[in-house]
Amino acid sequence: MALTINSKIKLNNGVEMPLLGFGTFRAEGKDSRRSVHEAINAGYIHIDTALIYGNEEGVGRGIKDSGISRDKLFVTTKLWISDQGYDSSLKAIEKSLKNLQLDYVDLYLIHWPVEEKLHETWRAMEEIQRKGLSRAVGVSNYTIRLLEDLKKESEFIPSVNQVEFTPFLYQKELLDYCQNNSIRLEAYSPLTRGRKLDDSRLVKVAEKHGKSTAQVLLRWDLQHEVITIPKTVTSQRIIENADLYDFELDYEDMALLDSLNEDARMIHPANIAPPEW
Ligand code: NDP
Repeated sequence: MALTINSKIKLNNGVEMPLLGFGTFRAEGKDSRRSVHEAINAGYIHIDTALIYGNEEGVGRGIKDSGISRDKLFVTTKLWISDQGYDSSLKAIEKSLKNLQLDYVDLYLIHWPVEEKLHETWRAMEEIQRKGLSRAVGVSNYTIRLLEDLKKESEFIPSVNQVEFTPFLYQKELLDYCQNNSIRLEAYSPLTRGRKLDDSRLVKVAEKHGKSTAQVLLRWDLQHEVITIPKTVTSQRIIENADLYDFELDYEDMALLDSLNEDARMIHPANIAPPEW
């Protein structure tokens, strides 16, 4: 079936998650409220935020302003490093829900792994799902090794692993691992934070389809069945980044994009996570 802005994929617990979402990292101050409202008006039904972004309140207000009914919207937020552990994770989700003015989120992610608290924090995530505070739970920035470790003691498998993922950081092994283990891969910084949008090979594919390079990058995710969450606070780009459904990358385009890997990370884990990452 043809992809649309409402296309969803099923998570391993049966919850359906929209493939296209709206990122909000660095959507600060009034921009978070306005841009989320505009995004929902433009047809996005999935919003990604995190406690550490400091904008959950603005995101929540943008959702309220839009008037969309809660069950039509998919909202993700994330548990920060300093809140990991059993009791503190349970407290952190309550704080996020209060900020967002929501009774539940659709997906709650462990933002970055903290290895010594890996299992304890995951037990809290399972409890959060059981209590209905989040419809699904998952992780972010987890490697195959950490996912394997988590599997040893957990009751639920994470529904999602949100990682940096672009043709320039084509983590094929991780994608295959997730697909084979019923974990959905979600791409953050899918537009390379704007840094690779002038790449001549991307430009060529974009010109062939009469689209922008940003649209090509996002379409590449969708055709790999990877959830993608571009961020912008610019009105015209909010529309552009959702205008992905009147073209299709052909086999040749996909093969070319799949060949661009250069392990180019826009976010360097060593700056955030412990060295064992
Ligand atoms: P993106 O790859 O989405 O790039 C965002 C940047 O690209 C902004 O500077 C934006 O500018 C610009 N941009 C957006 N659309 C276009 C366009 N069509 N043409 C040209 N430039 C454009 O980066 P992010 O790092 O923000 O990643 C997306 C989301 O992923 C985040 O917002 C966040 O929700 C999530 N994330 C999660 C992480 C994690 O650890 N789990 C880490 C990082 C991000 P402007 O806004 O000025 O228009």
